[in-house]
Amino acid sequence: MSKSFQERIAYALSISTDTRVFEMGRGFASKTPVIFKNCFPGRKAMIVADIHTWPVLGEKVFGLLTDAGVPTEKYIIEKEEFHAEWKYVEMVDLLVEGKLAEAKVIEQDNNHIEADAEKAFKPASDDYFILVSVGSGVINDLCKLCSHHHGQSYLTLPTAASVDGYSSFGSSISYQHSKQTFSCPAPLAIIADTDVIAAAPKEMTAAGYADLAAKVPAGAEWMIADFVGSEPIQPDAWHVLQDYLDDFLSRPADVAAGDPDAIADIFEGLTLSGIAMQAARSSRPASCCDHLFSHLLDMTEHRFNGKLQSHGFQVAIGTMTMCAVFDELFKLDLTKIDVDACVKAWPTLAQEQERALEVFKGFPAPKLGYDNITKKYDDAQEVRRQLEKLKAEWPALKEKLKGQVWSFEKMQAAFKAAGAPYDPSMVGVKREQLRDFFPKVQLMRFRYNLLDLAKRGGFYDAIVNPVFEKGGAWEL
Ligand SMILES: [Zn+2]
Repeated sequence: MSKSFQERIAYALSISTDTRVFEMGRGFASKTPVIFKNCFPGRKAMIVADIHTWPVLGEKVFGLLTDAGVPTEKYIIEKEEFHAEWKYVEMVDLLVEGKLAEAKVIEQDNNHIEADAEKAFKPASDDYFILVSVGSGVINDLCKLCSHHHGQSYLTLPTAASVDGYSSFGSSISYQHSKQTFSCPAPLAIIADTDVIAAAPKEMTAAGYADLAAKVPAGAEWMIADFVGSEPIQPDAWHVLQDYLDDFLSRPADVAAGDPDAIADIFEGLTLSGIAMQAARSSRPASCCDHLFSHLLDMTEHRFNGKLQSHGFQVAIGTMTMCAVFDELFKLDLTKIDVDACVKAWPTLAQEQERALEVFKGFPAPKLGYDNITKKYDDAQEVRRQLEKLKAEWPALKEKLKGQVWSFEKMQAAFKAAGAPYDPSMVGVKREQLRDFFPKVQLMRFRYNLLDLAKRGGFYDAIVNPVFEKGGAWEL
C-alpha cells in the first residue's frame, strides 16, 4: 500500500467531519477511559450492550471507566433477536436521559406503537449520559441517532468487522415499515480493539468482507454517475478508501481463518468507507445497486430458515449480481448506439411515473419508485447529451470501469474463500426473485445508477437478461 497505516488514518481524520479519534489495535479497549475523558470531559457514561457483547467487551469497559472515576451506568439489551427498529430508538433515547426502567418497558413491549420520529429531538444538556456503544452495527446505529436527538456525540467500541456503519454519517432504521436512513453525525471517537474484533463470530466478519467488497461495483457506478455529470466524484471521499480497496480485500481466506491482521484490514476498510461517507455527506461512496437488493429484502422482511439475514450477507448477493451485470456491459460496443432512436424511444416523466407505480404495486412502499424516478428523471435533451458523450467516450470509460470492477467469477471466488454467501440460495433468495428485483432496483433510489444509463441507451435488457440465461451467472 502506498501509505502507512498512520498516514491513512491521519488523512481519513483530516477529511472526516465528525470523527476526531480512531484508534485501532490489539488490547486497545484499555484506552477507553483516557479517550472518554478527553472527548467528553466531566460527563457520565452509559454503556449500551447486548447479551453477547456485554461479556466479551462491555463488562471490561464498564470496569475500566468506573475505575477511572467516570460515573458509569450500563444497559444490556436482553432480546435475543433485535433489529434497528424505531422502538429501540425510543428505548435508547431514554437511556441518554438515564431512564433505565422506562427503557426496559419499551424493550419488552411486543405491541409497542411507534412514536413520531419528528418529535424525538431534545435540547442539549450536560446532565445527559454520553452513550458508549459496545456492539455491532445495530447498537451503534441506535446510539448514533439517539445521541443526535440529544444534541451530543458518543463513543463506539465495535465488536465485529461486520458493517461500515460505525463511522458513517446517518443511521439505517426501520420506521413505519420502511428502512430509512436518518441523518445524524458519526461518532466522535471509535476504539477498535482488534483482539475482540478478530474473535467475533466468523459469519459477522465474512459479512463485513462482503459489505467492503460492495465498494468495488459501487465505485464503478459512481464513475458512471460522474461520467454523466449527475454526481461528480469527490476526490477525498474517493481516495480515502478506493486507493487501498483491492489491498484490503486481497486476503479472503485469511479473513475466514481468523487472521487478526487480515481482519484488521477489513475493519480499517469499513471505517474508511464510513469516513468517505462523512466527507461526501452521502452514502454515494459506499453503495449503489449492490445495496438495493439488500434493502428490498429488508423491506419485505425476508427470512431464511426463520431468521433475518445479515446486511453483509444480503449485500454479497447484490454485489455479485452487479459484477455479473458489468461483465455483460463490457461485452457491448456502445460506440454503435443509435442516439436518435434512443431519444425517440425515451418515455415522458408521466410514463415513467406510471411504470414505477406498476412496478411497486402491492409492495410495502408502493410510491417508492414514483418518488425517486420523479427526482432523477432526465428529459430527452439531457438524455441525448448523455448518450452522445457515452457513444464518443465509451472505449475510455470502459477501460476505466474495467480497472475498477471485478468479474463475477473473481468476486464469487473471493466470497467463497471469505466464508460469505456465493449463491443467492445461501440466503434463501431464488434466482427468479433476484431477476424480478431489477426493475425495482433501477427505480427505488434517486441516485443515478448503471441501470439508468442502460435504460437511456436502450441496452438494459442486453445487460440484465443474460445474467439469468443459459451460461449466465444466475442461470435460471
Ligand atoms: Zn453496507
